[in-house]
Amino acid sequence: MEAPLTPLEFARRTRRLHGSREAVVDGDLRLSYEQLFDRCDRWSSALRELGVGPGDRVATIAPNTHAQLESFYAVPQLGAVLVPVNHRLTPADFVYIVNHSGASVVCATVEYLDAVDSVRDQMPEVRHFVALEGAKDGWLDYEAAIAAASPGFTGPQIDERDLLTINYTSGTTARPKGVMITHRNAAMNSIGTLLHLPIAVGERYLWTLPMFHANGWTYTWTVTAAAGTHVCLRKVEPAAVFRLIRDEDVSWLCAAPTVLISLANAPAGARGEIRPGVHVVTAGAPPAAATIERLEEEFGWVVTHIYGLTETAPFILVCAPLPEHRDLAPADRAVVKARQGVELLTSGELRVNDPDGNEVPADGQTMGEIVVRGNVVMQGYYQDPEATERVMGDGWFHTGDAAVVQPDGYVEIRDRLKDVIISGGENISSVEVEGTLLRHPSVQEAAIVGLPDEKWGEAPHAFIVLRNGTSATEEEMIAFARERLAHFKAPRGVTFVTELPKTATGKIQKYALRDGGPNMARQ
Ligand code: AMP
Repeated sequence: MEAPLTPLEFARRTRRLHGSREAVVDGDLRLSYEQLFDRCDRWSSALRELGVGPGDRVATIAPNTHAQLESFYAVPQLGAVLVPVNHRLTPADFVYIVNHSGASVVCATVEYLDAVDSVRDQMPEVRHFVALEGAKDGWLDYEAAIAAASPGFTGPQIDERDLLTINYTSGTTARPKGVMITHRNAAMNSIGTLLHLPIAVGERYLWTLPMFHANGWTYTWTVTAAAGTHVCLRKVEPAAVFRLIRDEDVSWLCAAPTVLISLANAPAGARGEIRPGVHVVTAGAPPAAATIERLEEEFGWVVTHIYGLTETAPFILVCAPLPEHRDLAPADRAVVKARQGVELLTSGELRVNDPDGNEVPADGQTMGEIVVRGNVVMQGYYQDPEATERVMGDGWFHTGDAAVVQPDGYVEIRDRLKDVIISGGENISSVEVEGTLLRHPSVQEAAIVGLPDEKWGEAPHAFIVLRNGTSATEEEMIAFARERLAHFKAPRGVTFVTELPKTATGKIQKYALRDGGPNMARQ
């Protein structure tokens, strides 16, 4: 007997077994699982009435609210495909994504109604605009539609290979690409996540990670599978994060390293008393060992480092703890924890290959590209067979990330392949240099890029954000790096900046630093 692998099964089970438990906290609103799924059923019925059927696309432009979470159930149980749009993009990007995905319904929260209206005439295929909050002319009122819809909903039979979501990647240089995630992809990722990072029934999860980012790394469904509570958060501000952790007794959160840095450096006034024991799952960019160490030692939190891409639903490496890690000194343990790690039980086979397709030796030195094959790899890029062929045509998905393998088999990312610095014929890992600079007490954030150099072809240059109330000089930074690294890896120059350019999902935009050069706005 076979039943389709789908996160909708998690919802069915949790509703049946944990219907009265708290599912969602969003400001003053609190919903039990029974109430949450009753709302989802009604919204599915209303969408069906609007003519949405299996395979149709429904886009949402929303921060982390209960309505955004509801769309991750109401749309798929209709057999339709959710397109959670990165709400921090521009109206022109909204137009591109909505049109490319062919969405017939666009749902938005109150802060995006005007932005969408300003480009409405450029989205001719959209039949319905839905205001998830607030009321506006020309917009269907979500709450009114839910109130008017009939309860109970029976959806069509789902095939596990059906599309669940299309997630558009940020696309720093090219147009965003639509990553097709199937029910099976997401179910496998959720199950693997829970095996490695078990959430107990009733534990509370804070939404510091955007739900649109790779479906909130599937926590939109994983927290439900565990019968935990989703604590919504519209905007990540350290004071609000610390307050919610305390007031809502939060014990889990996911965040990109940049968010962890802002929490670690929050002023005492914003922190208040810190609840210890919070499990932090970090991915999206390489976290520095220094950041991990501070959260573990100063806050008493437990950090797990994970790695993946939207294209792999997303997790393909987890820095799984080993018994021998327990005996390490905190600083050494943080270095181990900063490694991306090993395959998850469910994510499939992962290799680090040289340009000829052979696995690199596990020597912690030789760099290769991470490739993977398994049940979490996307179906392809929506309506883009050429791009799909390029990244997975040979039966392996090519990540574009450069890594080494440590002797214990743990994979460690050194750079995006295209960001690897080659200076005088030697490879330099920007991640390694950044991690070293972050050990300096005045350094809050650091980014290393290769800038043109007459003698070496390319030489590493550091862009540094200093911690509040501290100062440092270029010479001091270079000397600090030279004491700890092979000299050719130390930055040749340093530019102090007030902030680093980042994507909406917390990745440093290295191309902007390279293009801006050493004279970018100085601090
Ligand atoms: P996205 O699809 O937006 O999540 O971006 C995926 C990319 O983020 C990967 O290809 C990596 O370059 C980067 N990334 C994700 N997780 C990590 C991590 N733990 N360490 C280093 N880079 C990461």
